[in-house]
Amino acid sequence: MEDRVVTISRAKTTMTFPANFMLVGAMNPCPCGYFGDPAKECTCSPAIVARYQKRLSGPLLDRIDIHVEVPRVEYDKLATEVPLESSHSIRARVEGARERQSQRFTGTHLACNAEMGPGEVREYCQLDDGGRSLPRSAMQQLQMSARAFQRILKLARTIADLAGEGEIATAHLAEAIQYRPRRQMGAGIDLGCGHELSLEVV
Ligand SMILES: [Zn+2]
Repeated sequence: MEDRVVTISRAKTTMTFPANFMLVGAMNPCPCGYFGDPAKECTCSPAIVARYQKRLSGPLLDRIDIHVEVPRVEYDKLATEVPLESSHSIRARVEGARERQSQRFTGTHLACNAEMGPGEVREYCQLDDGGRSLPRSAMQQLQMSARAFQRILKLARTIADLAGEGEIATAHLAEAIQYRPRRQMGAGIDLGCGHELSLEVV
């Protein structure tokens, strides 16, 4: 996944092919699908829930940048008249962020933030004073790997790009940290700088 190639070995030969892709996946929280649901009770035992969630290994989860829990949407919210942001304006924001990234990487072999290596992360993902103390406390409290930290910085850069900001602010970094897998998190972790992660442990 990280090398963006796939190597297939057979008895006589080994072939390497390009494999640069974006992985998007979804899973249920448990075999019955209702673990954590506020309206319907889950019928799975804790051991079955734990075994089910362990089917995705830690190292694989560590390489997925954005983890989002999608709870049931109440009918009232689906039927609401409140105007939501249109796909058209979201598209414009994404295109703006992409444009910012192509300007950033002009003259390099890179096309977007996701392709940054450690050197580029150091160069383009500078943090302000508040932001610098945040990853240290988050890394300690969430027992984050160095790889996870690199991924958080890249994601924070993209969140800042989507907001049209030149600098990565503490809020961008805090948002990126919240997308880490919940399994590695504890509830109510104080990240300093007035930011607190209040996520449930599953
Ligand atoms: Zn269940």
